[in-house]
Amino acid sequence: MTVEDSIAIVTGGASGIGYGIAEVLSNDGATVVVADVDEPAAEAAADDLPGPATAVGVDVTERESTEALAEAVVDEYGRIDVLCANAGIFPSAPLEELSVDDWDRVNDVNVKGAFLSVQACLPYMREHDYGRIVLTSSITGPMVGYPGWAHYGASKAAMLGFVRTAAIEVADADITINAVLPGNVRTGGLDDLGEEYLDRMRESIPKGELGTPEDVGHAVAFLASDRAGYITGTTLVVDGGQTLPESQLALEEVE
Ligand code: NAD
Repeated sequence: MTVEDSIAIVTGGASGIGYGIAEVLSNDGATVVVADVDEPAAEAAADDLPGPATAVGVDVTERESTEALAEAVVDEYGRIDVLCANAGIFPSAPLEELSVDDWDRVNDVNVKGAFLSVQACLPYMREHDYGRIVLTSSITGPMVGYPGWAHYGASKAAMLGFVRTAAIEVADADITINAVLPGNVRTGGLDDLGEEYLDRMRESIPKGELGTPEDVGHAVAFLASDRAGYITGTTLVVDGGQTLPESQLALEEVE
């Protein structure tokens, strides 16, 4: 399995899961473009990566911006092999207080952002008849729910509908498009919720530990590799078994 010598874009790559993806791809020999709306953070992230890397500022909700990103990468490296459409936001709001602005913002970044990132890279992937596209969805929405995240869950489920049709449309070239579904992953934001919260989360995960950004990165690296060429339009759950127990009782059985 290899992404060696690939040119890989990671949106939202400046922090959290995106940085974990960038780090795994970089360790595996890819040249990584850290693309993020937070440009200084993207530059710092690119500097920290072990292999060749550059930073590009992008707002994935703007078509001009995603097109400029793809152009900049092709100007610099000549092609785009891998796109990890990972940028996402997850502000919490109870359903009865959820505003249209909250709804639009989450769906703009998570769904429209993935669509625009894919659309901007596709012409260059077609030129070389090769591409590996991996979206970061979530277990929240496609598989389970969590109070406060109705809009977020809807956006993450919508990403899978997009993947299934997009995969058919690009299947005539050697271009695949898949999604990873992370469970609870230890990123800065989650750490801020405190040890007590993290302990309770751990108790609900059969593997007994939260995921790391690198855990997600390894799943993405597989789908982004040349060996995953016959896998398209599908999902890979990376949750330590979190979505498996049919009830809390199932976990207590094995305590
Ligand atoms: P994070 O906030 O650490 O990282 C998100 C990155 O996206 C940030 O660097 C941010 O600047 C960037 N970003 C935000 N809006 C952008 C925009 N408009 N254009 C370009 N970049 C933008 O969050 P994270 O936890 O690493 O989440 C990354 C992805 O993983 C998201 O899609 C999220 O929904 C998904 N996810 C996270 C978890 C988790 O437990 N952390 C679980 C499941 C799925």
